[in-house]
Amino acid sequence: MKKNLFVALSFITILIQAQESPNIILMIGDGMGLTQISTGMYANNNQTALEDFSYVGLSKTYAFDKLVTDSAASGTAMASGVKTLNGVIGIDSKNVPQKSILEICAEQDYKTALIVTSSIVHATPASFYAKVHSRRQYEDIALQLSEHYVDLFVGGGKKHFIAREDKRNLLNEMDEYTFVNSIREFGRSNANKLGYITYDDEPPALLKGRKPALDELTKIGLEKMKAKGKPFFMMIEGSQIDWGAHANEMEYVISEFKEFDKTIQAVLEFAKADGNTLVIVTADHETGGLSLLGGNISDGKMEGKFNTEGHSASMVPVFSYGPSSELFSGIYENTAIFDKMLKAVESN
Ligand code: MG
Ligand code: ZN
Repeated sequence: MKKNLFVALSFITILIQAQESPNIILMIGDGMGLTQISTGMYANNNQTALEDFSYVGLSKTYAFDKLVTDSAASGTAMASGVKTLNGVIGIDSKNVPQKSILEICAEQDYKTALIVTSSIVHATPASFYAKVHSRRQYEDIALQLSEHYVDLFVGGGKKHFIAREDKRNLLNEMDEYTFVNSIREFGRSNANKLGYITYDDEPPALLKGRKPALDELTKIGLEKMKAKGKPFFMMIEGSQIDWGAHANEMEYVISEFKEFDKTIQAVLEFAKADGNTLVIVTADHETGGLSLLGGNISDGKMEGKFNTEGHSASMVPVFSYGPSSELFSGIYENTAIFDKMLKAVESN
């Protein structure tokens, strides 16, 4: 009898869970095309967490005005579902500001988070909260973040908040927020709104000592979001895979990919345990026109050739896991990533 009651209760719990809005975790490897993934995977003993995902799709990354996109236009495409001009954040090609998936989720009582290895005002994270005509308007972007409702954010770029032309100190003005200065404090804080600005400027490459590790930050961030007892939207960016490819440095690309891959692993473990979390891993574009031409799995040394110090126009893969993950198989525009995430939110 007791056993039957237990089974019934478990079943009801599952039913209730199934009706709750899913958590959405969008992971963007900036510049992480198929070759960056292949290179990183072979260099990582022929393994990547991406092998555990349920569905794979391909995203067409071109911008409104150029076949080769930048991170602002492609970030905006994924965040808001519109193609726009290179360099523009959160505003469409007809000059109309667009709501992002993060903002839509927040209106639907989701909690929201951004965790990146660039500055927090860089083009990719900015696409989720800012509306500016140029990605270089860092001080305007910082101001828009300060007026926003992102519940948790981690990234560099403190100077854009405190050493400004308008002499304002945004960190002082953001009195709803608690700011922490170490991963220890980050882990311990129970603050409702939490910011961890990791560096004064852009964080350095992992090879040059960047800390804390993205996977550690992400694990803590996930615990904090889960503890809020509401569905959440989180965007995590491996920002510097792109920078390694711009520099045409194979070891830079590989090291940044490996850290991002560890983070994907941590997110996937969270999603598997949680049962109601949609995880999407993709890129905003490929960088470097990288070809992988040789190497060894045994020693992890890869030989490749970069064809440009800029971005390229090839499609990028999209990996998905969890509720509504089947929506992400096939070939589609990068703007459809927004549409599909929205569908996942609205499916409940
Ligand atoms: Mg980026
Ligand atoms: Zn780039």
